[in-house]
This record gives sequence, structure tokens and C-alpha cells, in this order.
Amino acid sequence: MSRVNVMQPWLGREEVAALSEVISSGWIAQGPRVAAFEADFARMQQAEHAVAVSSCTAALHLALKVAGVRLGDEVVVPSFSFIATANAPTYVGAQPVFADVDPVTGNLTARTVEKVLSERTRAVIAVDQGGVPVALDELRALCDPRGIVVIEDAACGAGSTYLERPVGAGAEIAVWSFHPRKIITTGEGGMITTAHADWADRARRLREHSMSVSAADRHGSTLAQLEEYTEIGFNYRMTDLQAAVGIVQLGRLPEIIERRRQFAEVYTKYINDIDGLRAVADPSGGTTNFQSYWIEVGDPYPLDRDDLLAHLASLDISARRGIMTAHRQPAYAHQGLGPGSLPVSEHLSDNTLILPLFHEMSVGEQARVISALLTGSGDKP
Ligand SMILES: *Cc1c(COP(=O)(O)O)cnc(C)c1O
Repeated sequence: MSRVNVMQPWLGREEVAALSEVISSGWIAQGPRVAAFEADFARMQQAEHAVAVSSCTAALHLALKVAGVRLGDEVVVPSFSFIATANAPTYVGAQPVFADVDPVTGNLTARTVEKVLSERTRAVIAVDQGGVPVALDELRALCDPRGIVVIEDAACGAGSTYLERPVGAGAEIAVWSFHPRKIITTGEGGMITTAHADWADRARRLREHSMSVSAADRHGSTLAQLEEYTEIGFNYRMTDLQAAVGIVQLGRLPEIIERRRQFAEVYTKYINDIDGLRAVADPSGGTTNFQSYWIEVGDPYPLDRDDLLAHLASLDISARRGIMTAHRQPAYAHQGLGPGSLPVSEHLSDNTLILPLFHEMSVGEQARVISALLTGSGDKP
């Protein structure tokens, strides 16, 4: 029996064809394919503007900058997230302030955020954790009147919906990831979507050294226009190679979501009948893409989370520990947040695991995972 992976990107001949077309064209850096990918992405996510960048981490950095977050500001973030969420505020000289999350969804809520607001709070980074849509409206109802910007970290959220629209569509600004661990991939890559034209313009310049004329435009003219550097920028460009793959991947998104939700439904049907296991589910007001299909392990399930991981591994099934907490990492030891300071985040992180779920997973592979959960519970599969 071969190993069941926790995640695998779905790539095919179409991506290969798109890549070779770009290579044949002779233009591989940021150019027409990046512009086309941005237009497609904006349409798909019902966003007014989309700006492609090299990663979601870069997107978070630029989102904070264009939203005006500066030295000395505070930015509320969940600790229960991939560490990039917590790191980004520091890039602009701001301080990340951790808020706890909801025990059911794993997302920030207006209640958990309100507890840590201060006079210095300038922004909140609200994550659609594992693809589960965050309750954005209640966060904005809290933050908008106080002049606090809510940045939606939709790194894992492509294909999830909130209030019948794609996640991110209701945000002032949202950021996305195309790392292979996410729903669609460009190898590495990210996107910013925003309702503000001026924020999009500035992000577009900042990703390219804040040049007043883009490299692609200069290349298009025989006598290159003289450029100006309007502020200190970065090289956060996506390449046309990546964007060409992204365009194909975006076309696959509806099919990916449909298949993931089918697999999730089967998992959930079995898991809800096993005492002591709880599966991630659609929250009220939205649907998840099940980017991470996680389960919480508790009494009376006979194995704890780590034992269940070991049991799965012994059957050549690769599961993963739940989402990390940033505040317990050495990088954040200086904040002095001891055990118990974010009880829900810690509980979820320590008692959940992510099960295999990917587009090309076979029914047989899923059956192996389900039967392992049943034997782990002492039941006959
Ligand atoms: C993966 C992830 C990121 C970082 O994305 P990259 O594209 O790898 O930089 C940021 N935030 C969240 C919530 C993520 O899951």
C-alpha cells in the first residue's frame, strides 16, 4: 500500500502547455500574463482590483502599508494561524497583538478582538482559517466606526463563500496565497484584492520598487521612458510563468471545490458517528472550501491527538498536527505570553489534526483513512 498524502496540488497538461507558451513568447517576468491573471482573479472573487505579488506574505506586507499601518501601531492578529499572519505587522514597524479565536470555527470574532483593542490599534488581520470564512460583517461593525482597517487573510480561502459571495468580496482589502499547500497554486505566489483604486495603485508600484513606469511598459517602448522612484519599494513581483499556471488553476477552482466538498461530506458522515471526534464544518453565513479538513480529538475517543497521528502514520497515512499558535514560538517569546494565555487557540492547536484531502485522492484512499479512524476508536471498520 502506498502512502496517502495530506495534500497534493492538481496539475496537468494544461499547465505544461501554458508554461511552454510563455517560454516561447520570450517574456517570462511580470507582464501580460500577470495582468490577465489579475483580471481573471478579480472577476472570480468579485473584487474591484487585484494585484499579483510573489507570495501572500508579501501581500500582507503591502496590504498593511497601503492601509496606512505604521511604526508604533498595533495590529490585532490570531495566534492560531500560519506564522506569516503574525509576522507581517512587524515589517511595517507595528506590533502584533494576539486575540483568541472561536472554539468552533477557529476564527477571530468581534468578542475576542474587542478584548484586545487599544488606542493604538490601526488594523485587524482576520484569517479565513483553513478556508472557514471569518464572520467579517461583525468584525467590520466593530472596527469600521473606530477607524480600524480589517484586512482579510484569505490565504486559504479561494472558493469559500461568505453571505453568498466569495470570501474577500466584502473586505476593504484581502490577501491570497498560491503556495502548493493552498487551494490553487502557482508554485509560490500571492494576490491582493481591494475595493480602493488608490490602494491597488500604490500596491502595484510598491511591488516593483515604486517605479513610476513598470518594467513591462518600459520594455514596450523603443526609447524607454524615464522612470521615477516615488517611495521606497520592494521586489514582490510575480512572474508571467507563475501567472500562466495561475490562470489555468483558476479555471480548475470550481471543480476542485466541488470535489473537496464531496470528500468532506463523506468524512463528516462517518466522523460524526465516532464518539469523541468533531469535524470542521460550514459556519453560519458561509461555506468552506475545506482547504484544511481538520478534526478535534477528545474524550471518549481512546487515543489522544498525537497517538492518533502515530496510529495513522503506522498505516502510511500522512496527517498533520492542527494549525500552529504563533505566541508559543520562540520568535514571540519576548511577548511573554505563557501557557493558558490564549486558551482556545492552544486547545485547538493541541487537539486537532488535518486529514488527507486533495483533488486526485481516490475513494479507496479515503476509505483507508476512515477505517483507520474507526480502528483507532476500537471499532471494527
Ligand atoms: C499560507 C498562509 C500565509 C502565507 O502564504 P505564502 O504565500 O506562503 O506567503 C499567510 N496566511 C495564512 C493564513 C496562510 O495559511
